[in-house]
Amino acid sequence: GGIRKHGTAAALEEPIHPGVSVDYTQLLINGNFVDAASGKTFPTLDPRTGEVIAHVSEADAEDVNRAVSAARKAFDEGPWPKMTAYERSKVLLRFADLLEKHNHELATLETWDNGKPYEQAANIEVPMIVRFFRYYAGWADKIHGLTMAADGPHHVQTLHEPIGVAGQIIPWNFPLMMFAWKIAPALACGNVVVIKTAEQTPLSALYAARLLHEAGLPEGVLNVISGFGPTAGAALASHMDVDKLAFTGSTDTGKIILELAARSNLKSVTLELGGKSPFIVCEDSDIDQAVELAHFALFFNQGQCCCAGSRTFVHESIYDEFIEKAKARAINRTVGDPFKKGIEQGPQIDKDQFEKILRYIRYGVDGGATLETGGDRHGSKGYYIQPTVFSNVKDDMVIAQDEIFGPVQSILKFKDLKDVIHRANNTRYGLAAGVFTKNIDTANTLTRALRAGTVWVNCFDVLDASIPFGGYKMSGIGREKGVYSLMNYLQVKAVVTPLKNPAWL
Ligand code: NAD
Repeated sequence: GGIRKHGTAAALEEPIHPGVSVDYTQLLINGNFVDAASGKTFPTLDPRTGEVIAHVSEADAEDVNRAVSAARKAFDEGPWPKMTAYERSKVLLRFADLLEKHNHELATLETWDNGKPYEQAANIEVPMIVRFFRYYAGWADKIHGLTMAADGPHHVQTLHEPIGVAGQIIPWNFPLMMFAWKIAPALACGNVVVIKTAEQTPLSALYAARLLHEAGLPEGVLNVISGFGPTAGAALASHMDVDKLAFTGSTDTGKIILELAARSNLKSVTLELGGKSPFIVCEDSDIDQAVELAHFALFFNQGQCCCAGSRTFVHESIYDEFIEKAKARAINRTVGDPFKKGIEQGPQIDKDQFEKILRYIRYGVDGGATLETGGDRHGSKGYYIQPTVFSNVKDDMVIAQDEIFGPVQSILKFKDLKDVIHRANNTRYGLAAGVFTKNIDTANTLTRALRAGTVWVNCFDVLDASIPFGGYKMSGIGREKGVYSLMNYLQVKAVVTPLKNPAWL
């Protein structure tokens, strides 16, 4: 069958069979796939149908203990932190080659478990993580301390050492990318890892972790556990033998993580949290290009991006034309089975998110925004939602304040730069922002005035390995990616030695 636009009667086609098998469903502890101590499993579901893909071992506190002890032993006894940096780098490079070779299996598992278009997973995301591991493999042997002047006769140097056991907790929207963003810098710096994947999407990380062992990673250096937040996640965040905790997810959970870390052993914490990012279309914009980029900024990945451009601010002089074109573009968005060619939008991750998004759409309508298109589920099976556009959105509406995390574009009208700067910043979040203008003075003013960790000018979602990513305000603490990520995984040790025989004697 052809690609179906939303709005046409959705055919009850059978979902396309993914055509790969699910080979890894257990916990990966100390280099081996093992059952949970309790023997418990939980189902991971296909968002196209809500049907079970596989039953996956469910970790809880006892499994977290096992994984942390394996990691601790791998750190204390080596060989990983004691290997030459060049050797570590070579393991990461071999891993990148294997990821590239297994693109199809990885992208298939990603699409099956998450619902994102296969073409997106295979052509964008797997190549991005390949690049990501090569980037950090390049850093591994370029990490070094400094030598500095002292006031007395002392030789002073700093050693940049790995922190130890890193606990990492990731969400479901980019399972492989989040896995890569977390483990690559940690491993490059010589740390060992216990990572908990999201309960909705455990499969691709297990597959990738197996490849990393094939690439020569010593046992115990990377432990991957599947399980739920309040059990496995909380046990990891409060573990006394975890030295560093990195979390990506919602702001509410981020607060819990920080508290658990503080109440246990004061492990250092980095947080990548939610957002409500503005996308600002200035009056000098080429409207067609602005519509396309604003559409991408919101709808990419079913709208399930922490950095989604979820408040589209449009200058009043081009507002009406922009609305018509944004609506037409959303109507044209191809929604359907993510394994089908040419599909732009698959299902949302699960029933909870699906219902939450539909609830927000109702808040939008009830709150007085104008529903231009969409507003309902797409088809009758699975968790598909019609691409939805609201115009006439006001700053105090719930849909302009809360993270919806779905394919719902909210368009707001603005008057001038002063007005839009104030309103764009009037949020508890500060993850990202988009600016669309041909005027360099406008671009410079906005990039400096916006309180956000990333400002994309005339582009959006450019997430190269070298570009730091993270939030102002309640969007997080710290930066991931690029050179900035390294300091999250290094301790600085000052070494001071007296100079007994100064050179000038
Ligand atoms: P979530 O916070 O509920 O879950 C994220 C992870 O935290 C999961 O692995 C979950 O099991 C775990 N978790 C949940 N409760 C926990 C607890 N009490 N203790 C320890 N761990 C716990 O988030 P979600 O709704 O599944 O994911 C979507 C959210 O993630 C959105 O708000 C989005 O903005 C955010 N996100 C942020 C970024 C970023 O880089 N800033 C990236 C992706 C997603």
